[in-house]
Amino acid sequence: MTTAIRDDLELEIEDLRKEKNAIVLAHYYQHADIQDIADFVGDSLALSRKAATCEQDVIVFCGVRFMAETAKILNPSRTVVLPDYEASCSLVDGCPPAVFQAWREKHPDHVVVTYINSSLELKSMSDYCCTSSNAVQIIEAIPADKKIIFAPDKNLGAYLAKVTGREMLLWQGSCMVHEIFSEKHLVQLKEQHQDALVLAHPECEETILALADFVGSTAGILKFARESEHTKFLIGTEARMIHAMEKEAPGKEFIPIPTSTGCACNECPHMMRNNMEKLRDCLRDLTPAIEIEESLRLRALLPIEAMFKVCDGDVPTSGD
Ligand code: SF4
Repeated sequence: MTTAIRDDLELEIEDLRKEKNAIVLAHYYQHADIQDIADFVGDSLALSRKAATCEQDVIVFCGVRFMAETAKILNPSRTVVLPDYEASCSLVDGCPPAVFQAWREKHPDHVVVTYINSSLELKSMSDYCCTSSNAVQIIEAIPADKKIIFAPDKNLGAYLAKVTGREMLLWQGSCMVHEIFSEKHLVQLKEQHQDALVLAHPECEETILALADFVGSTAGILKFARESEHTKFLIGTEARMIHAMEKEAPGKEFIPIPTSTGCACNECPHMMRNNMEKLRDCLRDLTPAIEIEESLRLRALLPIEAMFKVCDGDVPTSGD
């Protein structure tokens, strides 16, 4: 796309944003041009807090569908649109609600903790939601005598079990991006860059986490890179996160960990469905919009409220 067309598109989005009284929220895994034009860029937890408190009439959620659904759960009077309704997530797709319900019914004495990367239906069957930023805090808030089911990410669940010492039944889902980093290539990369620290997301497999100097959420990785005295990092999360890291920690070097194919462009195909044209279109047409049946929304809200009560002491609201 030429610079002139790009500039026209940005101006169009700018005009529509004012005309519709809209706010554009973007996840760190979005294309760089979407991150740059967004009003707010963050990880799932920060975006949920922001969505809950938005005063604008329209929330444009540049991320995947479960994120836009979370915004609608938290702020139902707003119109919530996303650039591409088909932007799903392997964690959502790998946990069919009916199958989960049957499994859950076999363990009625377990507290269900669900990663926010999940369907509305899965949230509605849960006691707590969590994000990778607050998952340890949520698990530690559950009384020690309670048994726990964690869904749908087995890698995050295994990491939480290790850090908290709690036994958990894990749903066997995984993130298609974080599960394909190559241990062999990471070992080679560490050899080549002995002065670099390895920063990895807990959705990565245990073999990658075992080689990491820091394990954290996207926001945690960003903060670590910004505040660290080190200047070179090997990054074990979605590759477009590096755009935000270069902006927030200028002058530092970020090298993506390759996948088993040797490719260092480990990008989420669901996040990649969004682009500037689709962003313009959804803002102009206010579609695709998230619609949730009210009784399902209220059931899905409960574990999200429980999460905020543990990690913030209160539930963020827009005040109306
Ligand atoms: S990066 Fe993984 S967890 Fe995030 S939306 Fe893509 S598939 Fe889902």
